[in-house]
Amino acid sequence: MSYQIAIDGPAGAGKSTIARRVAREKGFIYVDTGAMYRAMAYYLLQEKADPSDEEEISEKCTGAHITIEYQDGEQVVLLNGENVNPVLRTEEVGNMASVTSKNKKVRERLTLLQKELAEKNSVVMDGRDIGTCVLPNADVKVYLTASAAVRAKRRFDELTAKGEPCDIKKIEEDIVKRDEQDMTREIAPLKQAEDATLVDSSDMSIDEVVEKILSLTEV
Ligand code: C5P
Repeated sequence: MSYQIAIDGPAGAGKSTIARRVAREKGFIYVDTGAMYRAMAYYLLQEKADPSDEEEISEKCTGAHITIEYQDGEQVVLLNGENVNPVLRTEEVGNMASVTSKNKKVRERLTLLQKELAEKNSVVMDGRDIGTCVLPNADVKVYLTASAAVRAKRRFDELTAKGEPCDIKKIEEDIVKRDEQDMTREIAPLKQAEDATLVDSSDMSIDEVVEKILSLTEV
């Protein structure tokens, strides 16, 4: 039986950094489901799909074949056979993902892939609906959050370190808008699962959060 650790939370809460570390400690694979939604959004941007046209999104999303590979322990997202990792982390793609992830067809396709991965492997999977929809029977569920200001500062530091020019105010506005979209959508909205442990990382170091999650796996 595979072991499943589900980590959900809003944008910029540090989920991927934490999940990657926990996965390494446990020897599990790390599944970044946001990257899958981003790959889909990237495809839809390339196809010039109108994000407000649900029918068009439902139709066009069927042209995106998304698969996952691991290279040196890192998740590589293949979109129609091509590694799209380098183009996924922009604000444009993140904002498009938050809109197009509302679509039922998009969610069905990606949820199926996520469930398959967790059946075959022990995983640390992060996203918005992992504990509530994708892996409702996960062994450990965490809802990881932090204040919007702290999350904006982290995203700002991440982008600045990569040499991408950005404005912290605009990042915070985007984060608040994205939270709102993710929490109020009809299908699989972002919310804390009833049996999830709430971890607010606003005043915690990465090590402290990792330790906290590891301690939950030992009971
Ligand atoms: O986590 P990340 O910022 O990469 O996610 C991008 C977007 O993908 C989120 O804002 C959300 O709308 C969507 N997403 C989702 N369900 C998931 C993971 C991500 O709807 N499990």
